[in-house]
Amino acid sequence: MTSINIQNVSKSYINYPVLQGLNLDIRDGEFISFLGPSGCGKSTLLFCIAGLEDITSGSILFDGRDISGLSARDRNIALVFQDYALYPHMSVRDNLAFPLRQQKIPEETIRKQVAWAAELLGLDQLLDRSPAELSGGQRQRVAVGRAIVRNPAALLMDEPLSNLDAGLRVRTRTEIKRLQRQLKMTVIFVTHDQEEAMVLSDRIAVMNAGIVQQFAEPMTIYRE
Ligand code: ADP
Ligand code: ADP
Repeated sequence: MTSINIQNVSKSYINYPVLQGLNLDIRDGEFISFLGPSGCGKSTLLFCIAGLEDITSGSILFDGRDISGLSARDRNIALVFQDYALYPHMSVRDNLAFPLRQQKIPEETIRKQVAWAAELLGLDQLLDRSPAELSGGQRQRVAVGRAIVRNPAALLMDEPLSNLDAGLRVRTRTEIKRLQRQLKMTVIFVTHDQEEAMVLSDRIAVMNAGIVQQFAEPMTIYRE
């Protein structure tokens, strides 16, 4: 749980400006979508927040603290991508445990955390399977479970549903919303799908060509 303040953030690749003076104040426990066409800078902004890309100017604050000096790991942000890259040779249980094992957390605690994440995501019956034995939707639930298992400050998702078929997409987004409400987790969700942003978000940042055109509640944005 955390608030995220994006203050006058710009990002250029060489001389090409991708993000131009963005300002967004994201509240603790809010579900935010970055919505806009391909190439408008959504992923770049997400990566800057996660610490996977450096910003060119401006600042990003977590809970009021400037995080520009912090590595991706120290930002304690969880990321989920569309291709749910699970470790293929590990069971679901070990995929869920992996981020905790890397932090050298005691096995007893790991068992509890994995059981907690598995229950939240309905993975209890699948813990001994390998990723190859799961459906696309189940894999994406494991990816979400692995992202939240260490209780991150925020969950950032980049088009997490776009590899799922239509029915599964709706079910999985309902799951993600339920989880976010239950955990009161700050979530940033990148999508080019307007309906997805509408049903999921407390507020939507509508982006175009490196700027935020609107940042408001779905009904405010789409009233006209
Ligand atoms: P979106 O997520 O909205 O599709 P991106 O953030 O991926 O957009 O990309 C925004 C712009 O930045 C695009 O024009 C893209 O070509 C450019 N871009 C992204 N990554 C790089 C990079 N590593 N080097 C140069 N340009 C990049
Ligand atoms: P972190 O630094 O977040 O603890 P890693 O740097 O090990 O994790 O991996 C970053 C991401 O890359 C992982 O979340 C995972 O999705 C993917 N990844 C890394 N290694 C593998 C692998 N061997 N097989 C599949 N995906 C992997």
